[in-house]
Amino acid sequence: MKINAAGSGHTGPVKNGTAEWLQYDAALDKQKKCLEKAIGIIKNNIKGSKSCNDAFKALPGGRSFDDIFNDDTVWISYCPSKTTYGFTNSVGGKEITICEYAFMWGVWSVVGTLVHEMGHVNGAGTTDHAAEGTLLSCGLAKVHDPNIIGTRETAPIYIA
Ligand SMILES: [Zn+2]
Repeated sequence: MKINAAGSGHTGPVKNGTAEWLQYDAALDKQKKCLEKAIGIIKNNIKGSKSCNDAFKALPGGRSFDDIFNDDTVWISYCPSKTTYGFTNSVGGKEITICEYAFMWGVWSVVGTLVHEMGHVNGAGTTDHAAEGTLLSCGLAKVHDPNIIGTRETAPIYIA
């Protein structure tokens, strides 16, 4: 996964309702540092976990957690919404965005949102608990929300 930072040359999808895929520019340095810390936590604490990899392989996309993490065609953008954790452009899509709401709650919320969205990259649907459910297998029980069915977000069209 790559961060959509200034100079990355990446252009995310166009805005759709509250879902936006913006670059982490200089004004978003605080959020970018939090995102980098979250990715570091995932790399050190979650990547390589058998239970997490197995839970991901059971999703419709069939890829392991490590496969998604190592996939450099998956991008992570920024969205200013203060009511939604994050979005992925579609089930099986490769454009994740992490919203201000997740950053407001702190780095562990960003970690949980990233893992949730990675589940959608791997084909987890939006009408069940599959994406959020992976958190339990990935050592994130404390940020798992049993009330989240399908989405950590309320997107009308864009998923998850
Ligand atoms: Zn979701």
